[in-house]
Amino acid sequence: MNVATKMPEAVIADDFRMLIDGELKGSDNLFEIYNPATNTVIAHAPDATRQDLETAVAAARRAFKSWSRLSWDERGDYITRFADVIEQRREELTTMLTLEQGKPRHTLATREVDLAIHWLKGMAKQRLHNEILEDNEQHTVEVQHAPLGVVGAITPWNFPVLLSLWKIAPCLVTGNTMVLKPSPYTPMCTLWFGEIAKDIFPPGVLNFVSGGNDLGQWITEHPGINKISFTGSSATGKKVMASSSVNLKRITLELGGNDAAIVMPDADLDEVVPQLFWAAFGNSGQWCIAPKRIFIHSSVYRQFADKFVAFAKEKKVGDGMLPDTDLGPIQNKMQYGKLLDMFADIRAKGYEVLLGGQIDESLAGNFVPVTIVDNPPDDSRIVREEPFGPVVPLLSYETFDEVIERANDTDYGLGGSVWGRDRAKAIEVANQLETGTVWVNEIQVHGVTLPLAGHKQSGMGAENGEEGLCEFTNTKTLMFKK
Ligand code: NAD
Repeated sequence: MNVATKMPEAVIADDFRMLIDGELKGSDNLFEIYNPATNTVIAHAPDATRQDLETAVAAARRAFKSWSRLSWDERGDYITRFADVIEQRREELTTMLTLEQGKPRHTLATREVDLAIHWLKGMAKQRLHNEILEDNEQHTVEVQHAPLGVVGAITPWNFPVLLSLWKIAPCLVTGNTMVLKPSPYTPMCTLWFGEIAKDIFPPGVLNFVSGGNDLGQWITEHPGINKISFTGSSATGKKVMASSSVNLKRITLELGGNDAAIVMPDADLDEVVPQLFWAAFGNSGQWCIAPKRIFIHSSVYRQFADKFVAFAKEKKVGDGMLPDTDLGPIQNKMQYGKLLDMFADIRAKGYEVLLGGQIDESLAGNFVPVTIVDNPPDDSRIVREEPFGPVVPLLSYETFDEVIERANDTDYGLGGSVWGRDRAKAIEVANQLETGTVWVNEIQVHGVTLPLAGHKQSGMGAENGEEGLCEFTNTKTLMFKK
């Protein structure tokens, strides 16, 4: 275990405030922010009151009137300026991200920050175009994309930087205003965005409020909010959907997953093993669209398992601030507790464990070892549930029909991948997976213009791409007589 004996010099000022109507606002009621590598308190965040939310929503409604009338180019310029300032201060943001989230500073945290900046800049250039459906001597019919009004955004703790900017950029470029609430486990980077946004956007266009789950519910119930853009668990997604019905809010839900990766008999295992390892264990498995069930054809199962374990053995779990850490801690005690429970189940059922399997609870941080489970039954918890941690089952299969059926036997439908030299066969298998995204011989490729959508209970609607932008608009048909 790669555990720091001493934390780096504190880089964080303990005065995080919310951005409401263009003003930074603190509170007498604060909650603690922990470093998951040490479980020490590193900062505090304000616990928003209902009145804070009322003020933020009222400001966002006022700002909508002028913001929605700006041109796409004008709104895009604001977003680009926001990205430029974040870029100038990216080192500070990256350190903060590791300290509050845990992911390695020198690899994944850097990548998340860089990707987020790339996303902001790319989204700032996206456009939806009006379409003339009819234009004849009598009349013209034009389909437009009208902004919705105020968007309430709610984000999780696994990628707090990237996932909040995924919402902010398309929301603002399409002409909406926003009230955003980060996860109470990782509010720091998001509130820091507020400090930057204060000097860039007109008051009320972008508001940040911090607080617990009850604040999330107040947002989803609020009659002054027109849409909810939510990323989090499927269980919470159902609550969001129910309470959003009060004023028929539009909703986009990006929820959990239990992705299957299917390794065909002819796969190049040396190519596949590192890619699947990082996809499954990167961010210590706290990744919605990670492969969480790896199906391997029986003819290459042992070979794959040996190579996978050998590759995994070399990886260091530890404090993300240390330069040679490969995988950081679990972000919070709640999730760590769920993993303790999952590991206890694996032990109690007597499943074979090829690597890891024991969590050392005496460590100060929420460290969980890379764990690989050998062919547990399909009805085991580790196969049925989304563990959201560094533990993955390897599963043996015989035929393609069988593996497709098993891969689809889940309420989730976020992503999946197929690996093999016979590309035509791999694509045929991929086409039968009931998921929003399927990769063949690559994985976790995302892009500003590529829609990400969850099927089944993995979500509703899409983020990114034209489909993602449309989610922030209402279709409006304008007809005029000549
Ligand atoms: P969570 O559902 O517990 O919390 C997500 C957010 O919802 C937090 O900000 C939380 O405060 C808020 N919230 C909680 N209860 C609420 C309520 N009743 N009403 C409104 N808001 C409420 O999820 P999490 O533990 O933060 O994140 C992990 C989950 O997120 C995993 O299931 C993961 O797969 C999923 N996830 C999905 C994607 C995706 O794009 N599909 C991306 C990242 C994470």
